[in-house]
Amino acid sequence: MAADLIDGKAFAATVRGKVAGHVARLKEEHDITPGLAVVLVGEDPASQVYVRSKGKQTVEVGMNSYEHKMDVETSQEDLLAVIDKLNNDPAVHGILVQLPLPAHLNEDLIINSIAPEKDVDGFHISNVGLLGTGQKSMVPCTPLGCLMMLRDYHGSLSGMDAVVIGRSNIVGKPMAQLLLGDSCTVTIAHSRTKDLADVVRRADIVVAAVGRPEMVPGDWIKEGATVIDVGINRIPAPEKGDGKMKLVGDVDFASCSERAGAITPVPGGVGPMTIACLLANTVTACCRAHGLAEPEGLTA
Ligand code: NAP
Repeated sequence: MAADLIDGKAFAATVRGKVAGHVARLKEEHDITPGLAVVLVGEDPASQVYVRSKGKQTVEVGMNSYEHKMDVETSQEDLLAVIDKLNNDPAVHGILVQLPLPAHLNEDLIINSIAPEKDVDGFHISNVGLLGTGQKSMVPCTPLGCLMMLRDYHGSLSGMDAVVIGRSNIVGKPMAQLLLGDSCTVTIAHSRTKDLADVVRRADIVVAAVGRPEMVPGDWIKEGATVIDVGINRIPAPEKGDGKMKLVGDVDFASCSERAGAITPVPGGVGPMTIACLLANTVTACCRAHGLAEPEGLTA
């Protein structure tokens, strides 16, 4: 039986619509416009595309977008000075420093210099600790998007067996914390996990965040399980012509969708949810900064 398709592109449009509604309400009732500042150091082509896309979507939902493009040779001191200015700017509710940073900059130190309440990526050590202890935090965007889709599809996740493949700080670990927060029984698998196939076969929910194209085959998936594919891998697509490439996830979509109950596609699954959740986090941060009620359904 073919799995239900969890349409992240459509879901992301719904999230952006909700964000836009809250932004309009904040303007009308409180004369406040949420603002998101994105800092880009250097000219990494992929980062430039992401930053452009973030800026465009920020403006489309009615928020202010502030872009700070800095030279690849920017010193740590100069970057810290820009972050300090943004931390103290009341028009800025969210700050995102585009990663990766050039090698001479200390990424941990830079991220931890962002005011935690403006850390809309949720990477600041305070937000990591708050999430880990089940307190109100800024939640990393990609796992937040996965959680929203899972809650939307299942309603309650309580008691479900979840396996997260991957233990990165930006996806795997926060994803596991969020699933635990929703009362799943969570296993985190990684490159040293023994009998990964058997571990995955026990799962009602599989979140794959590995970075290895189509690594999870259909026969690892329990009949009826929900599969969330975070992977974004570019591989050759000779069927499209010489030198052409295509995007695939970390799961083999064709065989997994034969066994799963529901699955996210790549592209069009988790990817579009990430920027939508960045906008959601910015509106949440703005409401918190002004002591206003947080929009429902836009955070964990
Ligand atoms: P990462 O930091 O490279 O982490 C990969 C994880 O996968 C590591 O924990 C690693 O284990 C584990 N792993 C590697 N090989 C494995 C294997 N054979 N079996 C089991 N586990 C294995 O990657 P990431 O940043 O989390 O990203 C993961 C994927 O998600 C990438 O494809 C990335 O492009 C994508 N991504 C997508 C979005 C989005 O918006 N959709 C956002 C972020 C990332 P060890 O810890 O043992 O090395």
